[in-house]
Amino acid sequence: MFFLLGPAPGVLNPHLPNSPPVISRAEWGAQDPVLDLPRHRIRQITIHHTGTRQSFIRPFFDKLRGLQSWSQREDKLAGGRDKPKWADIPYHFYIDWRGQIAECRPAWMPGDTNTSYDTRGHLLIVLEGSFPTDLLRPAQKRSLFSLTRYMAARHQVAPNRIKGHVDYAPGETSCPGSTAYELLPSLRRFV
Ligand SMILES: [Zn+2]
Repeated sequence: MFFLLGPAPGVLNPHLPNSPPVISRAEWGAQDPVLDLPRHRIRQITIHHTGTRQSFIRPFFDKLRGLQSWSQREDKLAGGRDKPKWADIPYHFYIDWRGQIAECRPAWMPGDTNTSYDTRGHLLIVLEGSFPTDLLRPAQKRSLFSLTRYMAARHQVAPNRIKGHVDYAPGETSCPGSTAYELLPSLRRFV
């Protein structure tokens, strides 16, 4: 059901922490990316929230497939603005309300955004929910911490390069919402 990201700890880098379990694209039935983008090198990790309410009923894989098909077509954003066709889900990893982690857009491909920052070099992690309206659950927080620590080690991202979306697009968004944003100092210390 799960796969680990990269080699077992200690094989190549004895300092690489354990990867948390991650649901692969194949597992949730992802379509291939619909656009070809140049590769990027990850230099920072940026945290988001979905900005939509957590759903405790809709199955996780169904959410992912729905988000992917919306992402891969021309459509409207929540505010009514037009959105172009994106290659894939804008984020590289999605953490649902129960703390399950899914692989989304391939990490080698820059993400997408409805704001004006340049996503090249950013590894994007999204938390399901709209904060602070929704509760950021302990399991979600644990997954955020373990995934971020693993990804920071793997891509050699310094803790001070782990930020929230709002840090790159102030005035355009409050993403990842105050509850998640307030966690970032302790996330950086943990990493
Ligand atoms: Zn965001």
